Formats: sequence, structure tokens, C-alpha cells
Amino acid sequence: MKRKVGRREFIGTAAAGALLSSVSAAPETADANRPNEREVRLEFLRPKEIEEAQAECPTVFQPLGTIEWHGVHNVVGVDAVKAHALCVRAAKRGGGLVAPPLYGGVGGMDEPHTFVMEPENDVFSVLLRPWLEQLCREMARDGFRAIIILTGHYGAAQQIVVRETAVRMSRALAIPVLGTPECTLAMDVGYIGDHAAWGETSLMMHLYPDTVDLSRLGDPPHKGVGGRDPKTTASAEDGRLIAETIVSRLAVLARKMPTWDYKTLDRFIESEATLVANQLSAPRGKGAIWTAWRNIGSAMRDYGKQLAEERFEEIKASVEKL
Ligand SMILES: [Zn+2]
Repeated sequence: MKRKVGRREFIGTAAAGALLSSVSAAPETADANRPNEREVRLEFLRPKEIEEAQAECPTVFQPLGTIEWHGVHNVVGVDAVKAHALCVRAAKRGGGLVAPPLYGGVGGMDEPHTFVMEPENDVFSVLLRPWLEQLCREMARDGFRAIIILTGHYGAAQQIVVRETAVRMSRALAIPVLGTPECTLAMDVGYIGDHAAWGETSLMMHLYPDTVDLSRLGDPPHKGVGGRDPKTTASAEDGRLIAETIVSRLAVLARKMPTWDYKTLDRFIESEATLVANQLSAPRGKGAIWTAWRNIGSAMRDYGKQLAEERFEEIKASVEKL
């Protein structure tokens, strides 16, 4: 089955069904906080539990999002809520702890109930960038040896600021820091990223079914929704596939990143630096900040898989096709 997902200026296509068979069907429920499971939310842990978790796997997740209109059918916290839920599942499966989600970032729709902390296309972030830098420094000072910043809010500038900061902090702290939107990890199942459309709505239908009410949607076009019509395409089953794809890769990364030697770290930094440099400089003379995303769904469809398998040179080569 071919899927086509559009988000504002960037459009990509990918075959969704192809991975259905290769993604394991691990049981997931809507409640990420089931009893008798290891508590991975940092804010709910005492010192001894943090130290035990760090000894077992010194990775920390930092979910990012904001308060933003996500259509009349979704809650306004979608971006941080979904990123946090994905990180919690990945930590439970692969190891590590999850810091509380940060609400606030670069950009946001010109719609009600949206907190725009920095302008949409502002790559010169003066709020998010230093906040992330200090978070990374404190996480490293506290003993974590790998950091995964997962942003559920992913305007072009937000993505650039997050990834560029992660690359720089990887170099400065000499530990791997990955900064990526969640959609980039699941492009091979057709989730190129959208806004409150098929992808995000399906994810929420799987992660927090009670928060989605498709009956509130009238006929398209839907106000402040970008991508395939969620009313006719979104489903909890698609959300499960997307979530499972992302969580399985994050779990592997959480487990492996703290064990990388400097050679592996340098290979990782090189590929991530190449990607973000391309995204930052691609608009030259064209003015459109989304220039590097026009064909990301095809050029970099295997990014998530390649990252989890440490095939960094392949990622770097695919950036040339953007
Ligand atoms: Zn969103």
C-alpha cells in the first residue's frame, strides 16, 4: 500500500505495508504506567533508584513538545505527550530514564491555544538552544552517558535547532547526544511527519485513545491540519505500527549508545552533522526553510533503521540526495 503524507511545504512518499511483517508485534497498551513495571520517569524516582537505573543503562531521554493547536479532534499537548509516551516505552524496553517533557520550542501554528515561544522559522533560537545545552550538561554531570532528545514538535527550524545542538553537545561532552523528531525514525513506514493529520492522529489514537475525537471534524479542509485527512485515514492500528517502529529503534539506541567507543561516536557525529548542515544551508537563494525536506521521505527513508544499526556512512551518503 502506498502512502502519501504531506506537511506544509514538504512532501514524501513511502510504502507503509512493507514493514508490517518486519516490525515485531510486542504487546502495548494505552497505559504506559502499568503497575509492576519499572518506573522510568525521572521525576518519580528516588536517588537510589536513579543510581540503579544508571548502573544498568546510563541513557536519558528528553522529550520535547509545545502547546499547539492540533485540530478540533486532538488535544493541544500532542507533541510533548506523544514524544514522552514513546520515550517511556523505549526506556522500559531498552533501558534508561525519561526526563519530564519540555513544553515550548521554536514555532507553532497561527491558531488559537498555541504558545509560540520563538518564531516559526527562527534557526537563531535564544530560548530552546541554551535550555537544551544546559540540560545536556546537567544530565552528563549527573552521570548519564547518552542522551536522546526526541522532539514531537517538528517545524523545520525546531528540527535544525534540536539536531544542531545535539551534534555540538556530542562533541563538547564526548558522549552521544541524538536530537531528532520522532517521525524521522519511522519514515520507512510512511510517517514523514504531518500536523494533526494521519500520522500524529493515529499515534494519539494508539497512545492515548481517549484524547482523540474524530467526530469533531467536519468536511475537509480541516482548520490547522496538514497532511492526509485524519477523519478518513487515521487509525489506532496505523498508530501502533508507527509507535512500534519508533520505540523499537529508540530501545536499541538507548541500550547501545552509552557503550559506543570514540570511533563510533565520531562516525555518529559526522553523519548527524552532515544532515543538519544540509538542512541549514539547503535554502540558499531559495528562501524556503523546508528545502531539505522536499524528498526526505524517499532519500532518507531508512534513516531510523540505519541509525539503530549504526550504519552512519549510509546515512551520510543519503543526505547527498536531499
Ligand atoms: Zn504536532
